[in-house]
Amino acid sequence: MSASVLLTLLSDCLLAVVLFVLFWYVARLSRQVQGILTWGSAHLVYTLGATIFDAGTSMAEESGLPAAARATAHIGSIILCLGMAGLGWAIVLFVRRRPLHRAEFAIIFLAGAIPLATWLLGGNWNAQSVALNLVELLVLVWMCWHLRDLHEDPYRLPARMMMVGCVLLAILYGSVIPGWSLSQFGFDEIWVNVDLSIWFMLNFCMLMLSSFRAAESLKLSAMFDPLTGALNRRGLNAELATLPERREAGLSVIAIDLDHFKAINDFHGHDTGDRVLQRFSDLVRANLRDDALFARMGGEEFAIVITEGGMEAARRLAERVRALVQKMEFTPSSGRPVRVTVSLGVATRRDPEQTFADLMRSADEALYAAKHAGRNRVALFD
Ligand code: GH3
Ligand code: MG
Ligand code: MG
Repeated sequence: MSASVLLTLLSDCLLAVVLFVLFWYVARLSRQVQGILTWGSAHLVYTLGATIFDAGTSMAEESGLPAAARATAHIGSIILCLGMAGLGWAIVLFVRRRPLHRAEFAIIFLAGAIPLATWLLGGNWNAQSVALNLVELLVLVWMCWHLRDLHEDPYRLPARMMMVGCVLLAILYGSVIPGWSLSQFGFDEIWVNVDLSIWFMLNFCMLMLSSFRAAESLKLSAMFDPLTGALNRRGLNAELATLPERREAGLSVIAIDLDHFKAINDFHGHDTGDRVLQRFSDLVRANLRDDALFARMGGEEFAIVITEGGMEAARRLAERVRALVQKMEFTPSSGRPVRVTVSLGVATRRDPEQTFADLMRSADEALYAAKHAGRNRVALFD
């Protein structure tokens, strides 16, 4: 093995460490983003495996230890294949935002089993390289399959580039499976350079994807209430600011306040109170059209904003929410069932000068009237 190839492989390991630190950094800043740390770690493992396979083996051979050379090759290959499988795992975590299915664990298992079986069955170095190229091919196809579904901006371009990289690698690895020989593969400097460049591109794109995802989740956490998933005030204002003028003209606001909520906290405890807020929010969201806005204005006060149908549509929606909440029964783990009702105030924009804050104030006034009239009812701002 030439010194320059050895240097390339070692600098590749160093680069994998640097990339790992960067992936770790993004993952630490944004814990909700799945798959980044898995990718960084798997890539490091993959690179170490490849270096052990390529460099370790040839050095052991040159130093006249064929048994050690074989063992090193097999161990390197197993590490490489497991790293490769980890990269596929990371893509599933990132793209699908879910853990692996059972069938997908079979791929991870196969990735370890194929090189191990090759070793145990007495396969030589050539056989082992065929085995690891097969595993790489399998995982590259798996990765492409999932990356295909990242077709929305800003993810689309880096995801497409990764797919191109995967296809190029698949061609590169696939082409050496038949008629594999030392002169063709591994220590061929051009081959190694092309291989490393593509991997560099894959990592670069992955880093880009994960920073987009991290920025997205930071933005989301600034706009949504973590307990109920409803928009917070800032999120509501941001959504309102993007409304087209035509829809803004027909704005209606429904102010909602849970009745005697303090008593629920007092009787059942604060945790149950939290669960009631969550159940209430889920119920409302499940009954809203996609273009309606739902926000938690504070404590146990919420607002629904709709942009079509005027006062009558808003009144009907408010009445539906009231009836649904009244029917909602919720039994916490502590045992006693909890029932809750809501009071609602409705206001519709009549004059174009009216701001959203004016409208909200009117809805609150109507809500106050509903409370005053005995709660569990809808009042309209007159
Ligand atoms: P009313 O029918 O007049 O609205 O009576 P109420 O008890 O609902 O009104 P009040 O404003 O006196 O009490 C609101 C309570 O909501 C007080 C507060 O402890 C509780 N609360 C506010 N935010 C949260 C929360 O995030 N979780 C829980 N569990 N309780 C909350
Ligand atoms: Mg209340
Ligand atoms: Mg209140």
